[in-house]
Amino acid sequence: MSPLTEILRARIAHDGPLPLDAYMQACLLDPAHGYYTTQTSIGAAGDFTTAPEISQMFGEMLGLALAQCWLDQGRPAAFLLAELGPGRGTLMADILRATRAVPGFHAAAQILLIEASPRLREAQRAQLAGHAPRWAEDLSDLPPLPLFAVANEFFDALPIRQFRRAEGETWQERVVTATEDGGLAPDWAAPHPLAALDYRLGDTTPGDVVELSPEAQGWAAALGQQITRQGGAALILDYGDARSFGDTFQALRHHGFADPFAAPGQADLTAHVDFGELARAALPAATTRLETQGVFLERLGITARAQALAKGLSGAALDAHVAAHRRLTHPEEMGTLFKILALTPPGQRPPPGLEPGLRP
Ligand code: SAH
Repeated sequence: MSPLTEILRARIAHDGPLPLDAYMQACLLDPAHGYYTTQTSIGAAGDFTTAPEISQMFGEMLGLALAQCWLDQGRPAAFLLAELGPGRGTLMADILRATRAVPGFHAAAQILLIEASPRLREAQRAQLAGHAPRWAEDLSDLPPLPLFAVANEFFDALPIRQFRRAEGETWQERVVTATEDGGLAPDWAAPHPLAALDYRLGDTTPGDVVELSPEAQGWAAALGQQITRQGGAALILDYGDARSFGDTFQALRHHGFADPFAAPGQADLTAHVDFGELARAALPAATTRLETQGVFLERLGITARAQALAKGLSGAALDAHVAAHRRLTHPEEMGTLFKILALTPPGQRPPPGLEPGLRP
């Protein structure tokens, strides 16, 4: 049995069944045994891979989109160039390389990385040597500067609460209990009314499952406030939809799905992102219409960029490059599952490739 199973069983014996968000928080970020603190492995050899690890073109497109937002807002002479959950630092490195030729952009940028994992901070330090990044735990205490931010596969890693609609207008919360054979298993708590889910009474019936992430709401609210007050933009990319529906809690280990309750701390736990929830929390910041990653990248010109890069390649390298382009954009790969939502100051034109108008 894993050490974290013991710790969580003791906690349940003392406090009762754990809500899913508390379980997820412990599995991902427990200081001694959490997945992100001890063993995150992002990339081909790890548990999961991400768009910036697939191709440099992803970061190039996002970097140029952010630089265009900065130009549109009058080239502020100092701004925060931030990333939430930068992983191995690949995306920020590609953003910085792609924007080198934008006059004044690098000189004005103060690089801020929001990262919980000490191990990943070290990877980011090595990847971004020469750019003097600064790290923070959260978005409180930001200096009064415009914030231009990206978050790729950050929000799916934040703890969620899960509820099943019961009879009448009540909900049962998903909890984690201790089993007789020494493990952990999911269960449902007793039904009760929940004002935070009143807005879901109209589109659910008994048995339906919905998800909430108070933690995600907190991050979106902090982004929205800074961008509304100081200017800037946030590009949020992840898998999910405009509204949560069904059980999307999942564990990934060695590129395959695993039982999320079997080996706490040893698998990546995620849930689909409810972009409507982020948009509501970010008010009064403006939000763009939710767009698919594939359409967004195509509008930004990823195909022209792919063709330019292909000229210098042949054989296996060319095949890999063609496959990477397809993987990022094709509807059967990441193109449709992944979405992008942008936050901007109210009244500001949307970032390139996006349209105004998600109604939270
Ligand atoms: N954006 C990267 C990595 C995605 S993995 C990429 O696309 O490759 C999720 C990242 O978010 C990791 O860097 C993880 O350590 C970080 N993270 C997860 N929860 C966090 C939290 N609560 N606070 C700060 N960082 C967190």
